[in-house]
Amino acid sequence: MIFHVLTIFPEFFQGPFEHGIVRRARESGALEIRIHNLRDWTADRHKTVDDRPFGGGEGMLLKPEPIFQAVEAVFPERLPGRKVVLLSAQGRLFDQEMANAFRSAEELLLICGRYEGVDERVAEHLADEEISIGNYVLSGGELAAAVVIDTVARLLPGVLGNESSAVFESFQKTGHGGGLLDCPQYTRPADFRGWKVPEVLLSGNHAEIRRWRESAAREKTARLRPDLLGPGPR
Ligand code: SAM
Repeated sequence: MIFHVLTIFPEFFQGPFEHGIVRRARESGALEIRIHNLRDWTADRHKTVDDRPFGGGEGMLLKPEPIFQAVEAVFPERLPGRKVVLLSAQGRLFDQEMANAFRSAEELLLICGRYEGVDERVAEHLADEEISIGNYVLSGGELAAAVVIDTVARLLPGVLGNESSAVFESFQKTGHGGGLLDCPQYTRPADFRGWKVPEVLLSGNHAEIRRWRESAAREKTARLRPDLLGPGPR
């Protein structure tokens, strides 16, 4: 899978993809990340990417022309496997289900906004999706793009050492909690400062362990994320 990132800060991405799973995914060829500098698609000598908002107001907006030109250069044809995604605080909330869906794209182009945001015509006429990584405002889309790439990369076939890792995780319908939080996990020592690992996990009884994990996942979800349980009794 290829990720394209359109940004005015290409140097931002020198660190985030150099570690762990994402690095391994790149080295194995399962994942390619191409960073594009938005200023390469400007026509003036100052490489201007922003302008004042019509109607007045604070700050500057990213102009539409360089963004449209960049996307049209990277994707000369809008094939079904190519998706254009605008990172925006106003977008649909990014979640595990969306990450699972993105995995089937061949190429995903992420547009990073800056300043007060991006001319709305990008959302209206260029992007396939406008997405937010949470109900808060970042100063730019670069961190959000890194979050999306990391989340999708670990779902790509062959990227995780153990294929079941991504299946038994929080928010995955296939997980211990069936779309809820993952269950609590423990490692050695079995007794740490008097805090003991639940006995059942040491029992070797796999059926019992599975039942405990399901119920512990439910209990933790009810305590920390009751919204995931939905409105009615489950
Ligand atoms: N004026 C905008 C608003 O109130 O919705 C906020 C603009 S923000 C300062 C600048 C850029 O950061 C946005 O264009 C977007 O690309 C990115 N950004 C900010 N918050 C984000 C979020 N929660 N998810 C994804 N991108 C975000």
